[in-house]
Amino acid sequence: MAESQPMVAPQIANLTLREEKAMDRPIRVTVWNEGRHEKRNVEVAKLYPKGIHGALAEYLQSVPGLVVRTATLDQPEHGLTAEVLADTDVLTWWGHLAHAEVADEVVDRVQARVLAGMGLIVLHSGHFSKIFRRLMGTTCNLRWREIGEKERIWVVEPGHPIAAGLPPFFEIAHTEMYGERFDIPQPDAVVFISWFAGGEVFRSGCCFQRGSGRIFYFRPGHETLPIYHQAEVLKVIGNAVRWAAPSGGPVPYFGQVPRPLEPVS
Ligand code: ZN
Repeated sequence: MAESQPMVAPQIANLTLREEKAMDRPIRVTVWNEGRHEKRNVEVAKLYPKGIHGALAEYLQSVPGLVVRTATLDQPEHGLTAEVLADTDVLTWWGHLAHAEVADEVVDRVQARVLAGMGLIVLHSGHFSKIFRRLMGTTCNLRWREIGEKERIWVVEPGHPIAAGLPPFFEIAHTEMYGERFDIPQPDAVVFISWFAGGEVFRSGCCFQRGSGRIFYFRPGHETLPIYHQAEVLKVIGNAVRWAAPSGGPVPYFGQVPRPLEPVS
């Protein structure tokens, strides 16, 4: 070892290697979808012939540096086995009809992975998913209306990585309205605020950190509308995946520390 090497705790030296590893390889993305609307509703199946997960995965596969797999509710363990989660850097979550059918054991597993550093992107009606409510600790309730009105989404943190490449605002011609109060804890950053033709506003892009994991909630995406085919919406999701990927930072260690690093007199 060179004499100039700084004196560091062994845990920190190991984690430098982990960081290099994390930066060298592609970001492993798992796109999770409940997948029920597509099976029950012809209109939804027509819009998303490969499922909402298929549409999202197809886009994410086109983003450099990502490797993408999908998982759905009806697979064993909802497709989120310990092995799959161990091989996932960022999980995206779309659910609506069947939040209650997601096994608590799987929610526990996803939560543990988030706390350990996995990124989580929660989309649209995923605001009521077990995992999002658990991580937020609030009801995550909101107001809504389904008349296909216009939404204008303003970028309010233009320097944020999730806003990269976007115009100052973009519009969704026909959408389901979500309105405040959105019962979430104060986000670490609000990247987007939506205005709806009917008058409501909504914090549509919210960043949180729980443990070592980054969480992004993104509002757009109703199942009967072609919102996940819109370029700006997909761009945001791709940006969010890159932002939420684990940073490779040190693994925290807890508990009693009987020996100080420096002599204490
Ligand atoms: Zn909806």
